[in-house]
Amino acid sequence: MRYALSTWLYADRPLDAALRDFKQAGFAEIEVWADKTHLDPRYLTDAAEALNLVRKSGLGVHSIHGPFHDMGIGSEDPAVIAQTEKTIMKTLEFSHELESGFVVLHPVTCDSSKISETGENYTKELFQRLADRAQQLGVGILVENLPKASAPYNSMAGLNKLFPDPRIGLCLDVAHAFLNGLDILEEIAIAAPRLYSCHVSNNDGKKDSHSNMYDGLIAMDEVLDRLAALPQVTPVLEITGSPNPEATLEGTKQSVVIRRSRAQGGKHA
Ligand SMILES: [Zn+2]
Repeated sequence: MRYALSTWLYADRPLDAALRDFKQAGFAEIEVWADKTHLDPRYLTDAAEALNLVRKSGLGVHSIHGPFHDMGIGSEDPAVIAQTEKTIMKTLEFSHELESGFVVLHPVTCDSSKISETGENYTKELFQRLADRAQQLGVGILVENLPKASAPYNSMAGLNKLFPDPRIGLCLDVAHAFLNGLDILEEIAIAAPRLYSCHVSNNDGKKDSHSNMYDGLIAMDEVLDRLAALPQVTPVLEITGSPNPEATLEGTKQSVVIRRSRAQGGKHA
Protein backbone atom coordinates (compact mmCIF):
# COMPACT_ATOMS: atom_id res chain seq x y z
CA MET A 1 0.00 0.00 0.00
CA ARG A 2 1.41 3.34 -1.03
CA TYR A 3 0.95 6.41 1.09
CA ALA A 4 0.85 9.92 -0.29
CA LEU A 5 1.92 12.73 2.01
CA SER A 6 0.17 16.11 2.05
CA THR A 7 2.49 19.09 1.69
CA TRP A 8 0.32 20.74 4.38
CA LEU A 9 2.78 19.18 6.84
CA TYR A 10 5.16 21.85 5.50
CA ALA A 11 2.61 24.68 5.36
CA ASP A 12 5.13 26.83 7.26
CA ARG A 13 7.88 26.01 4.78
CA PRO A 14 8.28 26.78 1.06
CA LEU A 15 7.08 24.17 -1.42
CA ASP A 16 10.59 23.28 -2.59
CA ALA A 17 11.60 22.38 1.00
CA ALA A 18 8.59 20.06 1.27
CA LEU A 19 9.43 18.34 -2.01
CA ARG A 20 13.08 17.87 -1.02
CA ASP A 21 12.44 16.61 2.51
CA PHE A 22 9.49 14.35 1.60
CA LYS A 23 11.57 12.68 -1.08
CA GLN A 24 14.46 12.25 1.30
CA ALA A 25 12.09 10.70 3.84
CA GLY A 26 11.22 8.05 1.25
CA PHE A 27 7.80 9.22 0.09
CA ALA A 28 7.08 8.81 -3.63
CA GLU A 29 3.65 10.45 -3.84
CA ILE A 30 2.16 13.67 -2.54
CA GLU A 31 -1.00 15.68 -2.22
CA VAL A 32 -0.09 19.28 -2.98
CA TRP A 33 -1.72 21.77 -0.64
CA ALA A 34 -3.36 24.67 -2.46
CA ASP A 35 -5.01 26.60 0.35
CA LYS A 36 -3.25 29.88 1.18
CA THR A 37 0.16 28.41 0.41
CA HIS A 38 2.17 26.11 -1.92
CA LEU A 39 -0.16 25.94 -4.96
CA ASP A 40 -3.02 28.32 -4.13
CA PRO A 41 -3.74 30.14 -7.43
CA ARG A 42 -4.68 33.29 -5.48
CA TYR A 43 -1.25 33.64 -3.90
CA LEU A 44 1.12 32.42 -6.62
CA THR A 45 3.26 35.03 -8.29
CA ASP A 46 4.75 32.55 -10.75
CA ALA A 47 2.51 29.54 -11.30
CA ALA A 48 4.69 28.08 -14.06
CA GLU A 49 7.68 28.05 -11.75
CA ALA A 50 5.74 26.37 -8.95
CA LEU A 51 4.45 23.68 -11.31
CA ASN A 52 7.97 23.14 -12.60
CA LEU A 53 9.30 22.65 -9.09
CA VAL A 54 6.80 19.88 -8.55
CA ARG A 55 7.53 18.25 -11.92
CA LYS A 56 11.27 18.36 -11.36
CA SER A 57 10.94 16.78 -7.90
CA GLY A 58 10.14 13.43 -9.48
CA LEU A 59 7.40 12.90 -6.88
CA GLY A 60 4.06 11.61 -8.13
CA VAL A 61 1.16 13.97 -7.52
CA HIS A 62 -1.80 11.92 -6.37
CA SER A 63 -3.98 14.96 -5.81
CA ILE A 64 -4.22 18.67 -5.11
CA HIS A 65 -6.14 19.94 -2.08
CA GLY A 66 -8.18 22.85 -3.43
CA PRO A 67 -8.47 26.23 -1.70
CA PHE A 68 -11.17 26.69 0.95
CA HIS A 69 -10.31 29.73 3.09
CA ASP A 70 -12.17 32.84 1.88
CA MET A 71 -13.99 30.80 -0.75
CA GLY A 72 -17.71 31.06 -1.47
CA ILE A 73 -18.98 27.50 -1.69
CA GLY A 74 -22.46 27.65 -0.17
CA SER A 75 -22.84 31.36 -0.87
CA GLU A 76 -26.01 32.86 -2.36
CA ASP A 77 -24.10 35.69 -4.02
CA PRO A 78 -23.48 34.99 -7.72
CA ALA A 79 -20.44 37.31 -7.79
CA VAL A 80 -18.83 35.45 -4.88
CA ILE A 81 -19.55 32.09 -6.52
CA ALA A 82 -18.09 33.31 -9.83
CA GLN A 83 -14.85 34.31 -8.08
CA THR A 84 -14.72 30.96 -6.27
CA GLU A 85 -15.34 29.12 -9.52
CA LYS A 86 -12.49 30.94 -11.23
CA THR A 87 -10.06 29.91 -8.49
CA ILE A 88 -11.14 26.25 -8.57
CA MET A 89 -10.99 26.14 -12.38
CA LYS A 90 -7.37 27.29 -12.12
CA THR A 91 -6.72 24.51 -9.58
CA LEU A 92 -8.21 21.96 -11.99
CA GLU A 93 -5.84 23.21 -14.68
CA PHE A 94 -2.87 22.84 -12.31
CA SER A 95 -3.99 19.29 -11.62
CA HIS A 96 -4.09 18.56 -15.34
CA GLU A 97 -0.64 20.07 -15.84
CA LEU A 98 0.85 17.98 -13.04
CA GLU A 99 -0.86 14.82 -14.27
CA SER A 100 -2.44 14.60 -10.88
CA GLY A 101 -5.56 12.45 -10.86
CA PHE A 102 -7.69 14.40 -8.42
CA VAL A 103 -8.61 17.74 -6.90
CA VAL A 104 -10.06 17.44 -3.39
CA LEU A 105 -12.69 20.06 -2.57
CA HIS A 106 -14.63 20.98 0.52
CA PRO A 107 -18.34 20.82 -0.33
CA VAL A 108 -19.01 23.96 1.72
CA THR A 109 -16.74 26.80 2.80
CA CYS A 110 -19.23 28.84 4.82
CA ASP A 111 -20.94 27.97 8.12
CA SER A 112 -22.68 24.75 7.08
CA SER A 113 -25.49 25.18 9.62
CA LYS A 114 -26.58 28.37 7.86
CA ILE A 115 -26.77 27.18 4.25
CA SER A 116 -30.10 28.00 2.63
CA GLU A 117 -31.84 25.88 0.01
CA THR A 118 -30.75 28.46 -2.57
CA GLY A 119 -27.13 28.20 -1.40
CA GLU A 120 -27.28 24.41 -1.62
CA ASN A 121 -28.76 24.54 -5.12
CA TYR A 122 -26.04 26.98 -6.24
CA THR A 123 -23.45 24.56 -4.84
CA LYS A 124 -24.90 21.66 -6.84
CA GLU A 125 -24.86 23.78 -10.01
CA LEU A 126 -21.31 24.94 -9.33
CA PHE A 127 -20.11 21.34 -8.94
CA GLN A 128 -21.79 20.39 -12.21
CA ARG A 129 -19.81 23.08 -14.03
CA LEU A 130 -16.63 22.01 -12.24
CA ALA A 131 -17.26 18.36 -13.15
CA ASP A 132 -17.74 19.37 -16.82
CA ARG A 133 -14.39 21.17 -16.86
CA ALA A 134 -12.64 18.44 -14.87
CA GLN A 135 -13.85 15.86 -17.37
CA GLN A 136 -12.41 17.91 -20.27
CA LEU A 137 -9.09 18.07 -18.44
CA GLY A 138 -9.04 14.39 -17.48
CA VAL A 139 -9.08 15.20 -13.77
CA GLY A 140 -11.39 13.87 -11.05
CA ILE A 141 -13.12 15.99 -8.43
CA LEU A 142 -13.42 14.50 -4.94
CA VAL A 143 -15.56 15.99 -2.17
CA GLU A 144 -14.46 15.63 1.43
CA ASN A 145 -16.50 15.12 4.64
CA LEU A 146 -15.99 18.01 7.05
CA PRO A 147 -15.55 17.90 10.85
CA LYS A 148 -18.37 19.06 13.11
CA ALA A 149 -20.36 20.17 10.07
CA SER A 150 -24.10 19.83 9.54
CA ALA A 151 -25.70 17.22 7.31
CA PRO A 152 -25.19 16.55 4.43
CA TYR A 153 -21.60 17.83 4.63
CA ASN A 154 -20.51 15.59 7.53
CA SER A 155 -20.90 12.08 6.12
CA MET A 156 -20.35 9.90 3.09
CA ALA A 157 -24.09 9.17 2.82
CA GLY A 158 -24.81 12.90 2.88
CA LEU A 159 -22.27 13.66 0.15
CA ASN A 160 -23.52 10.73 -1.94
CA LYS A 161 -26.99 12.26 -1.85
CA LEU A 162 -25.85 15.84 -2.47
CA PHE A 163 -23.64 14.91 -5.44
CA PRO A 164 -25.18 11.99 -7.35
CA ASP A 165 -23.09 12.78 -10.48
CA PRO A 166 -20.80 9.76 -10.92
CA ARG A 167 -18.04 12.08 -12.19
CA ILE A 168 -17.74 13.42 -8.64
CA GLY A 169 -15.94 11.07 -6.27
CA LEU A 170 -15.36 11.01 -2.53
CA CYS A 171 -12.43 11.69 -0.23
CA LEU A 172 -13.07 10.26 3.25
CA ASP A 173 -11.21 12.11 5.97
CA VAL A 174 -11.11 9.40 8.65
CA ALA A 175 -10.24 11.86 11.42
CA HIS A 176 -13.24 14.04 10.52
CA ALA A 177 -15.54 11.00 10.49
CA PHE A 178 -14.27 10.08 13.97
CA LEU A 179 -14.90 13.62 15.27
CA ASN A 180 -18.41 13.45 13.81
CA GLY A 181 -19.05 10.35 15.92
CA LEU A 182 -19.37 8.06 12.90
CA ASP A 183 -18.10 4.51 12.51
CA ILE A 184 -15.13 4.87 10.15
CA LEU A 185 -15.41 1.31 8.81
CA GLU A 186 -19.06 1.94 7.98
CA GLU A 187 -18.14 5.21 6.26
CA ILE A 188 -15.59 3.32 4.13
CA ALA A 189 -18.24 0.75 3.18
CA ILE A 190 -20.75 3.46 2.20
CA ALA A 191 -18.16 5.42 0.20
CA ALA A 192 -16.39 2.45 -1.41
CA PRO A 193 -17.85 2.58 -4.95
CA ARG A 194 -16.89 6.27 -5.30
CA LEU A 195 -13.89 6.43 -2.95
CA TYR A 196 -10.53 7.38 -4.47
CA SER A 197 -8.76 9.11 -1.63
CA CYS A 198 -8.64 9.01 2.12
CA HIS A 199 -7.21 11.67 4.40
CA VAL A 200 -5.50 9.81 7.21
CA SER A 201 -4.58 11.31 10.59
CA ASN A 202 -5.42 10.59 14.22
CA ASN A 203 -6.95 12.61 17.08
CA ASP A 204 -8.44 12.36 20.59
CA GLY A 205 -12.05 12.48 19.39
CA LYS A 206 -12.40 16.10 20.49
CA LYS A 207 -9.97 18.21 18.52
CA ASP A 208 -9.10 17.96 14.81
CA SER A 209 -5.40 17.74 15.68
CA HIS A 210 -4.31 15.94 12.47
CA SER A 211 -1.79 13.91 14.46
CA ASN A 212 0.38 11.09 13.16
CA MET A 213 -1.28 7.74 12.37
CA TYR A 214 -0.89 6.08 15.78
CA ASP A 215 -1.10 9.20 17.92
CA GLY A 216 -4.75 9.19 19.00
CA LEU A 217 -7.86 7.12 19.69
CA ILE A 218 -8.64 5.91 16.15
CA ALA A 219 -7.87 2.18 15.75
CA MET A 220 -5.79 2.94 12.69
CA ASP A 221 -4.73 -0.60 11.73
CA GLU A 222 -8.37 -1.65 11.32
CA VAL A 223 -8.96 1.37 9.08
CA LEU A 224 -5.84 0.77 6.99
CA ASP A 225 -6.60 -2.96 6.66
CA ARG A 226 -10.00 -2.03 5.25
CA LEU A 227 -8.50 0.52 2.85
CA ALA A 228 -5.91 -2.00 1.67
CA ALA A 229 -8.82 -4.04 0.27
CA LEU A 230 -9.74 -1.09 -2.00
CA PRO A 231 -6.94 -0.84 -4.57
CA GLN A 232 -8.28 2.39 -6.11
CA VAL A 233 -7.86 4.25 -2.80
CA THR A 234 -4.63 6.01 -1.91
CA PRO A 235 -4.33 6.95 1.76
CA VAL A 236 -3.07 10.53 2.02
CA LEU A 237 -1.33 11.33 5.29
CA GLU A 238 -2.67 14.76 6.23
CA ILE A 239 -0.61 15.68 9.27
CA THR A 240 -0.16 19.05 11.01
CA GLY A 241 3.50 20.05 10.89
CA SER A 242 3.29 22.99 13.25
CA PRO A 243 5.30 23.89 15.31
CA ASN A 244 8.20 21.70 14.09
CA PRO A 245 7.61 20.31 10.59
CA GLU A 246 10.99 18.55 10.32
CA ALA A 247 10.48 16.64 13.60
CA THR A 248 6.87 15.81 12.69
CA LEU A 249 7.99 14.47 9.30
CA GLU A 250 10.38 12.13 11.11
CA GLY A 251 7.44 10.85 13.19
CA THR A 252 5.32 10.44 10.05
CA LYS A 253 8.07 8.44 8.39
CA GLN A 254 8.36 6.22 11.49
CA SER A 255 4.59 5.65 11.55
CA VAL A 256 4.71 4.29 8.00
CA VAL A 257 7.58 1.96 8.96
CA ILE A 258 5.56 0.70 11.96
CA ARG A 259 2.47 0.23 9.80
CA ARG A 260 4.44 -1.77 7.21
CA SER A 261 5.82 -4.15 9.80
CA ARG A 262 2.41 -4.59 11.45
CA ALA A 263 0.71 -5.19 8.10
CA GLN A 264 3.31 -7.80 7.20
CA GLY A 265 2.57 -9.60 10.44
CA GLY A 266 -1.15 -9.48 9.72
CA LYS A 267 -3.40 -10.59 6.93
CA HIS A 268 -2.16 -8.06 4.39
CA ALA A 269 1.37 -9.37 4.13
ZN1 LIG B 1 -8.79 16.37 5.16
